[in-house]
Amino acid sequence: MLYFSHPACLKHDPGVGLPGHPERPQRLQAIEAALGECDWLAWERREAPAASVAELELVHQGDYVERIRNLCAAGGGALDGDTFAGAASWEAALRSAGAACAMTRALLSGEAGVGFAAGRPPGHHAEPSRAMGFCLLDNVAVAAALALSELGLERVFILDWDVHHGNGTAEIFRRRADVLFASIHQGGIFPGSGDREETGSGPGEGYTINRPVPAGSDESTWLSLLENELLPAAAEFEPQLVLISAGFDAHRDDPLAECRLETSSFGLMATMVREAAEAWNAPVGAVLEGGYDLAALADSVVSTMAALGGAQRQ
Ligand SMILES: [Zn+2]
Repeated sequence: MLYFSHPACLKHDPGVGLPGHPERPQRLQAIEAALGECDWLAWERREAPAASVAELELVHQGDYVERIRNLCAAGGGALDGDTFAGAASWEAALRSAGAACAMTRALLSGEAGVGFAAGRPPGHHAEPSRAMGFCLLDNVAVAAALALSELGLERVFILDWDVHHGNGTAEIFRRRADVLFASIHQGGIFPGSGDREETGSGPGEGYTINRPVPAGSDESTWLSLLENELLPAAAEFEPQLVLISAGFDAHRDDPLAECRLETSSFGLMATMVREAAEAWNAPVGAVLEGGYDLAALADSVVSTMAALGGAQRQ
């Protein structure tokens, strides 16, 4: 059980340019304080390395990566109405992507069966050449691409349980059959994509699964979709690695959406994923995405990590 993060991830502060921004450093501080209170659930903590530009360019355009780096070097600025990069954001983004990459390497080398990459900024809205939705680099996509290109895997399953559709990850792998991307998200909210009819294109047809749910959807809806639709599809795909785009903003206390998961719901989802992955002999790594109520976020991460670590502790 390995947890990856880096102090540089606390230095990225969108509130500098966009006052009152919900994606704030206190999110990661709250997570780590809650984990500290339970002795980190016996997980080993590791400092995340910086992702290399070559790793980022597995999914992002080179000129885009250069543009973000230059913007940060020049002191930063807003990339759109809700996405900001400051002087410290480049290092944070590299460590955030690097946490996902280092976790993936550790999982595939057999060092651990489960991992959690707790970086900021989050990633799943970042497209190949566009920052969006608080995201600069698509951390989970970089990690998945690394597993496929450098580490020799043939099939990676990405489960995105953030309440928002992971448009960036979806776009990056839309035409590919080596990544099964499955998302449950609240329909009709940011970023507006993720219709049920979007199922991939070209060779990737059938390897994208979107399950938008209405506002107010609770645990029964989310668990049922996971158990009856997403995990059976993944079983058929026979993934060699499971990556969770782990946002916690479907929590009932979250201010950015209107789903109604409980703290324990995330543990239940993580348990279902872990048990399924054990049957596939696939390690499971979670990559932090959203979650904006500090207490709900921190407690839900603890619930998730406790569930992921369940098998290892027995
Ligand atoms: Zn989200």
